[in-house]
Amino acid sequence: MERIDCLTIGAGVVGLAAARALALAGREVVVVEAADAIGTETSSRNSEVIHAGIYYPTGSLKAVACVEGKQALYDFAAERGIGHQRLGKLIVATSPDQIPTLTRLQAQAAANGVDDLTWLDPPAIAALEPELRAVAALLSPSSGIIDSHALMLALQGDLEAAGGMIAFNTPVLGGAVTRDGIVVRLGGAEPTEVLARTVVNAGGLAATTIASSIEGVPAEAVPATRLAKGSYFRLAARSPFQRLVYPVPEVGGLGVHITLDLGGQARFGPDVEWIEAIDYRVDPTRADPFYAAVRTYWPGLPDGALLPDYAGVRIKLVTADGSAHDFRIDGPAVHGIPGLINLFGIESPGLTSCLALAERVTTLAEQQP
Ligand SMILES: Cc1cc2nc3c(=O)[nH]c(=O)nc-3n(C[C@H](O)[C@H](O)[C@H](O)COP(=O)(O)OP(=O)(O)OC[C@H]3O[C@@H](n4cnc5c(N)ncnc54)[C@H](O)[C@@H]3O)c2cc1C
Repeated sequence: MERIDCLTIGAGVVGLAAARALALAGREVVVVEAADAIGTETSSRNSEVIHAGIYYPTGSLKAVACVEGKQALYDFAAERGIGHQRLGKLIVATSPDQIPTLTRLQAQAAANGVDDLTWLDPPAIAALEPELRAVAALLSPSSGIIDSHALMLALQGDLEAAGGMIAFNTPVLGGAVTRDGIVVRLGGAEPTEVLARTVVNAGGLAATTIASSIEGVPAEAVPATRLAKGSYFRLAARSPFQRLVYPVPEVGGLGVHITLDLGGQARFGPDVEWIEAIDYRVDPTRADPFYAAVRTYWPGLPDGALLPDYAGVRIKLVTADGSAHDFRIDGPAVHGIPGLINLFGIESPGLTSCLALAERVTTLAEQQP
């Protein structure tokens, strides 16, 4: 059986970032990816926003990795010529009863180390974004956007330059924990088994299924999950906004917001739809609540201006008390299996955090005997 030092499962932005970091740390890395290209799932079905780190509970991995990852990502993007813009973002209160939420968010952000938010009153909002209607807003100057595909190509380039490789069309079918390492069964045109010293499970939406398919992984070490689809609609006209615009957050997501891509095209979304099975089609009838939601802060949204665009699916870990879950990077201290690192619940801000998560994976892998 072929022996591999480090096997990374999944070539999304997190798997690629982890594989790159491990290869740069001198490990021999092979990435196995079920699809025929990098980033075909959640990493290319998101808002491409570099988040500031405002919303997450202080001290959570989401908060820490987002703030660290944001800076690392801006530096990496600048160094490598990856398209990005530090556009800034407005979080808007559309009625006085939402003002306490803005106050709470500003305090939460400061506690997370994001101390550059400024409070805007209606004249200041109108000066920045004349079409926006709000009674107050927070301006986050460090929020921005990035070309996620160019980012993944740069990560892949570094991985390969450091001697790593990606095997496409190679799904992980299962495996077993053995005394010598982790045996992983690979499908595809030439099914085979490999013995890996370290396995980094960055399978995104499939990460819990992959972990459960490895014999010897305790069932209680694999969290239950729920799926929350988010659909996007694009604006048929030119965007009147220069910045990202977010309402106050809602349960399960950040609210139907306006993002811009690097070409200036505006998109609205994602909404929250709890689903049982993954289906990326966008139901055009979901536009109706979008009009209502967007018009609370942009009354000028014309009828018929929203066109169905794409959808992504968030993976939500089920917590015992229904509270917000954190990212999980589970090593042997959690599941007791030397060499196995499971990344669970890597929803937003996973893109922003990818380089910071990769550092943590590398540190955990280095602790292996
Ligand atoms: C609607 C939405 C909006 C978001 N917006 C933002 C945002 O603006 N900013 C931000 O920071 N984050 C955002 N996120 C989060 C971000 O997109 C994710 O955290 C990130 O893309 C996760 O990357 P990943 O590599 O873990 O997963 P993925 O990109 O899903 O990669 C997992 C890979 O594993 C592969 N795979 C699956 N099963 C197997 C198998 N058995 N064998 C081999 N390979 C397998 C898949 O093919 C896939 O390529 C958003 C997420 C969603 C859903």
